[in-house]
Amino acid sequence: MELRICHMYPDVLNLYGDGGNIRCMSQRLRWRGIGAEITRLPIGSAASLSGYDLVFIGGGQDFEQQVLLEDLHRGKDREIRAAVEDGLPFLAICGGYQMLGSYYETYDGQRCDFIGALDLYTVGSSTRMIGNYSFQCGESSGGSVVVGFENHSGKTWLGSGLQPLGTVLSGYGNNGQDGSEGARYQNVFGTYSHGPLLPKNPALCDFILLTALERKYGAAELVPLDDRAELAAHDEMLKRLR
Ligand code: GLN
Repeated sequence: MELRICHMYPDVLNLYGDGGNIRCMSQRLRWRGIGAEITRLPIGSAASLSGYDLVFIGGGQDFEQQVLLEDLHRGKDREIRAAVEDGLPFLAICGGYQMLGSYYETYDGQRCDFIGALDLYTVGSSTRMIGNYSFQCGESSGGSVVVGFENHSGKTWLGSGLQPLGTVLSGYGNNGQDGSEGARYQNVFGTYSHGPLLPKNPALCDFILLTALERKYGAAELVPLDDRAELAAHDEMLKRLR
């Protein structure tokens, strides 16, 4: 068994070590004897997403989001929308998560027209929502409690039919107002949680890997790993947040 993982825009969307999530996914697969092949898709690369089993998109500041717009609308937008509808799993973080929505209007009034793969939009605010935070994933995302780090000025609002990834336990999440965090649609996992999201949250990592493996192979199983170090980091942060 093997997963072919696409790292989209590693050149511009890779804040706070977001790319470490790819290393985490690959390692957790390899520890189980499952292969992982990583392909980087920077600005200017071919748009096609065929042949991938999972797509990862990291976060970026307003500036980087504007830099990639032209490339996005040269075909990757259509390709991503079709892949999402086809059930290709995506993990998208912060700026990459906002990019899957309809648009982002920055606090100083500049509008980035994104792709509308998810029914959500984002509007910049005067508050930076920053810090360690925690949320409880919904049933359709495995139900685990996630500890993460967020840093965004954009407030994201989900369309009425779109499920959040989870419910905020502490911190801001999508907008600091409605208690929602991230978005969950088809096999897309969108979140504001940057940096070492997956190493500190092995249950969410395995849920995403299993989603990709089941889509590819019909049925799959992930043998449990020794997660004592990962869970100690997770629990320590949760304790501090409480
Ligand atoms: N530029 C976006 C915001 O501030 C996303 C930032 C990020 O990815 N950290 O809302």
